[in-house]
Amino acid sequence: MSVRKIVIHPAEILEVQCKPVTKFDKKLAKILNDMYDTMIEFDGVGLAAPQIDLDIQVAIVDIDDESGTIEMINPEILETKGEQVGPEGCLSFPDLFGEVNRPQYVKIKAQDRKGKFYTLEAEDFLARAILHEIDHLHGVLFTSKVLRYLEEDELEGLEAE
Ligand SMILES: [Zn+2]
Repeated sequence: MSVRKIVIHPAEILEVQCKPVTKFDKKLAKILNDMYDTMIEFDGVGLAAPQIDLDIQVAIVDIDDESGTIEMINPEILETKGEQVGPEGCLSFPDLFGEVNRPQYVKIKAQDRKGKFYTLEAEDFLARAILHEIDHLHGVLFTSKVLRYLEEDELEGLEAE
């Protein structure tokens, strides 16, 4: 396992539509393991493949709760409900945080590292993190959704995705 370099905005790879994964092999497992190491190294709560320069539909989320590390391959949003406005950051935008409106609840379908399909429901901050990462896989950056950027004195304790 190893820590990869994070792609910092602006970069074309951050704004492309990522390709679906078709091979669930050792190479994919290595990418996921490296993504985990990279997310932990940079204190993030999520990471998407384009952030390590790969245009494939792979993302991980770990908000340090009982859900553990969620690995999402080819994720699809099945349902969303409600809304929440809260602070959000991104490892590809160092030191930039803004308030983003997201659904309060999301239900997704995705595949795990072995290719097995699963569905997952999430609310609150976990829903926010999952939706942020899925956006990355379609070249959508949180800056396109920011309602208001946060000032330095509002940033304490925030973690990027
Ligand atoms: Zn991000």
